[in-house]
Amino acid sequence: MELQGKAEKVTGGCFCEAIRYEAEAYLHDTYYCHCRICQKISGVPAEVGVIVKPGSLRLTKGEPKYYQTSHFAERGFCPDCGSRLFWRSTSPEAPDEWLNLPVGTLDHPEKAVPASHVCVESQLPWYKIDDGLPRTRTEDDPELAALWDAPDG
Ligand SMILES: [Zn+2]
Ligand SMILES: [Zn+2]
Repeated sequence: MELQGKAEKVTGGCFCEAIRYEAEAYLHDTYYCHCRICQKISGVPAEVGVIVKPGSLRLTKGEPKYYQTSHFAERGFCPDCGSRLFWRSTSPEAPDEWLNLPVGTLDHPEKAVPASHVCVESQLPWYKIDDGLPRTRTEDDPELAALWDAPDG
């Protein structure tokens, strides 16, 4: 994924506020992920992800629990209210910039600007977003496709 904008300071947290974070995020590189894992784990037709600058994420309150959702990544959530919080790579082969968080957890989600759709091969047929943004299938992204093909990341 080619980053367009520069990282900006953001704050956010889970629904019950047991967990709060601050980070620098590439708000202008926000993307819709239509993969089945995002659909399942978030319960939404697509998760809207915000890319976090490597090393900038800092928890200011609480500690999420993590659940391994693929052989190369795990996702954090609040153990009290269940809000989905972070996606982070557990594979040394995955690029660092893939650390991301769901847009709805930001204090100001309206500042995020979607720039693309990814994993559109599993986009739900009734979920129509007529925004003209670039759309890629998993196999169009060589780094992502290679991770999925790796036997155990
Ligand atoms: Zn919570
Ligand atoms: Zn996804």
